[in-house]
Amino acid sequence: MTQVTDHGGGVLSLRVPIPDNPLGHTLVYVVDTDRGPVLVDTGWDDPDSWDTLTRGLTACGTSAAEIQGVVVTHHHPDHHGLSRRVREASGAWIAMHAADTAVVRRTREARPEHWCTYMAAKLAAAGAPDEHLAPLRRARPSTLPGLSPALPDRDIVPGELLDLPGRRLRAIWTPGHTPGHVCLHLEETHPAQLPGHGRLFSGDHLLPGITPHIGLYEDPDDATVTDPLGDYLDSLERVGRLAPAEVLPAHQHPFSDTAARVRTLLTHHEARLTGLLTLLAEPLTPWQLAERMEWNRPWGQIPYGSRTIAVSEAEAHLRRLVKLGRAEAVSGSEPVTYVAV
Ligand SMILES: [Zn+2]
Ligand SMILES: [Zn+2]
Repeated sequence: MTQVTDHGGGVLSLRVPIPDNPLGHTLVYVVDTDRGPVLVDTGWDDPDSWDTLTRGLTACGTSAAEIQGVVVTHHHPDHHGLSRRVREASGAWIAMHAADTAVVRRTREARPEHWCTYMAAKLAAAGAPDEHLAPLRRARPSTLPGLSPALPDRDIVPGELLDLPGRRLRAIWTPGHTPGHVCLHLEETHPAQLPGHGRLFSGDHLLPGITPHIGLYEDPDDATVTDPLGDYLDSLERVGRLAPAEVLPAHQHPFSDTAARVRTLLTHHEARLTGLLTLLAEPLTPWQLAERMEWNRPWGQIPYGSRTIAVSEAEAHLRRLVKLGRAEAVSGSEPVTYVAV
């Protein structure tokens, strides 16, 4: 049986499993509208996950064929993966912020060899050792990805209400975890009268017990120096100011003390940046910084793919420190090293 939770006020959630992932599941929200149900996120594209979703919709008294639309918080496959199947079953529209739709479009059009060349060059510039670069340099175009993600057909416009008859759901742009991540603010009285302003579907931006990954926004065709961690911290303050009565996240469980959670995350990031400055007493490449940073296990036990993600996170922190004037690149260093100032 799919686990269905009634959150009141015409909002239910389904726990859709993510195969082989410690996160366990995505919470897919079913929001009633005057025209029929709309989903917030859909879950991982896997046969078991699809079965769970469809059985869950039946348990909610509806079906995949009746879904009117899909609102996607961000492009990651545990959120957007099943959107394609929902649209095939129902003809539902799919809405996403344009910055993440651009990522989906790139994923659909990407030539794997182009991506591998880009990543190998980027990681080499970050000081990655040869053994980490070799698999990327060996990668053959035959390693094509599987089914490509659905291209959204509606834009989620920051600050605007979505077109959901009978509901007030406003898009709040919260870049950081991805460039086009959005939270959705249900501007309606809380069904249990909890103090605060409505409810917030927070995607991966604000979770009760996990700090979301903040890395670089990787785009082989865009050399803009972005500051994803700065974006994320700004976005955290933005949702803090909304002061929702309850947060409905895409993983784990709903929670109500938004201000405390926002404060904890801001403090965590400030402490982490300060800790990095201590490490940067000597010049380090992003790779060397990643090796010395604290992770959930020793560097030697971090698998290959996660190391790439860790370096991206180290670089996002370096960008922030440089932007704040607390670290700088050592001129003439190659690969580039950074030092505290
Ligand atoms: Zn995500
Ligand atoms: Zn997620």
